[in-house]
Amino acid sequence: MLDADFFHRWMTATAGLVDREAARLTELDSAIGDADHGSNLQRGFAAVSAALAKEPPRTPGAVLALAGRQLISTVGGASGPLYGTLLRRTGKALGDAAAVSPADLARALGEGVAAVAQLGGAQAGDKTMLDALLPGVEALGTSFAAGRDAAAAGAEATVPLRARKGRASYLGERSEGHQDPGATSAALLIAALAEADGG
Ligand code: ADP
Ligand code: MG
Ligand code: MG
Repeated sequence: MLDADFFHRWMTATAGLVDREAARLTELDSAIGDADHGSNLQRGFAAVSAALAKEPPRTPGAVLALAGRQLISTVGGASGPLYGTLLRRTGKALGDAAAVSPADLARALGEGVAAVAQLGGAQAGDKTMLDALLPGVEALGTSFAAGRDAAAAGAEATVPLRARKGRASYLGERSEGHQDPGATSAALLIAALAEADGG
């Protein structure tokens, strides 16, 4: 079972991966956006880590609710409200249980991803974070490692796509040939689950 400590580790592992990959995320965003995705998420997940350290929540749902609030209030870009909604909705789906199963988490993340799609109006193939989140969360039903691999493959598969949502969509066909920064960071979020799990 996954308790509040596990969810705390998931968020700090995400912060660590975002720190490590920040330059790459910003470089990807400089090709088809405004070159701030790495710094946006670094600021956001640093705030998440600080808030969790200050007053560690007692349930998985509360960890994700706090993390989501921090992202919404500290990330200036489109990705802040989208990731914030993902975590808040996932947390809400977990309710106030003290611990949840991996299957519970996969189901709850499915609700979170649906909320991201609703908020942003994007669907699979639009070259957004959803292109990593949808296959990644689906594969979490098998294992965290399978989720990590599917999310990474989904992010890589955004390279040839034409962006239909977000800033990159303003480029039209010139968005083709570049990996989507948000799909790349979404794959880090799923990879951090496997890290928190000890793999
Ligand atoms: P901004 O574009 O406002 O500078 P970021 O650079 O932080 O914000 O995030 C950009 C990423 O957000 C994109 O690469 C894409 O994955 C994601 N994104 C943008 N708009 C949407 C949307 N409507 N639905 C889903 N994801 C989106
Ligand atoms: Mg940007
Ligand atoms: Mg921006």
